[in-house]
Amino acid sequence: MKDLILKVTASKWNYYLSLITDGLTALVFLVLSIIYSKDVWASIALFVLGVIIFTFIEYAVHAWLFHENHPLKVFIEGHAHHHQNPFSYDAMPFFMSALIASIFVWLFHFIMPLGDAFAIVGGMALGYFNYGIMHHIMHRREFSSKYWRYMQEFHFVHHKKPKMNHGITTDIWDRVFGTYYQWNEEDLKGIEKLKRVKKKA
Ligand SMILES: [Zn+2]
Ligand SMILES: [Zn+2]
Repeated sequence: MKDLILKVTASKWNYYLSLITDGLTALVFLVLSIIYSKDVWASIALFVLGVIIFTFIEYAVHAWLFHENHPLKVFIEGHAHHHQNPFSYDAMPFFMSALIASIFVWLFHFIMPLGDAFAIVGGMALGYFNYGIMHHIMHRREFSSKYWRYMQEFHFVHHKKPKMNHGITTDIWDRVFGTYYQWNEEDLKGIEKLKRVKKKA
């Protein structure tokens, strides 16, 4: 079973399909939050809150589920695959984001109106989609923007020092939990291998 899961989660078709279903999940939940909303401004605020909550989940899953030792080896090994080969196509099975988002809405609707639950979870789904896209592009594109270069180097340093710099979309939680590492020129040696940028002719 573990082998089958690892085979699917490392396949190219699952990877690209995931990016599509992740984006669709965010979109569908956003539309549902508007349909069920009783107060549009409150929904927008909850949607933003969902994006912020996701940045914490991004940190927690990466730092504590992928890089700490525990019995659920499939998470550790699946992620180790990405560290060994930064251009591999590692992603959760493509239906997982929609499934997990639905479970969250179902749980949240016990403690808040359904429209609010869709808004928060929709924001989280958008955060997850943004994470997937940012991480994909980080290993494949080069932009001159200072912010982009900073986030790219921040992540590449994680590839070299897996216990540090776990964030992808923000460095905030690494600063909060003391895993932020300020790199120097020496640390950036060899990071070219982590990028597959087409050379200009
Ligand atoms: Zn990476
Ligand atoms: Zn990692």
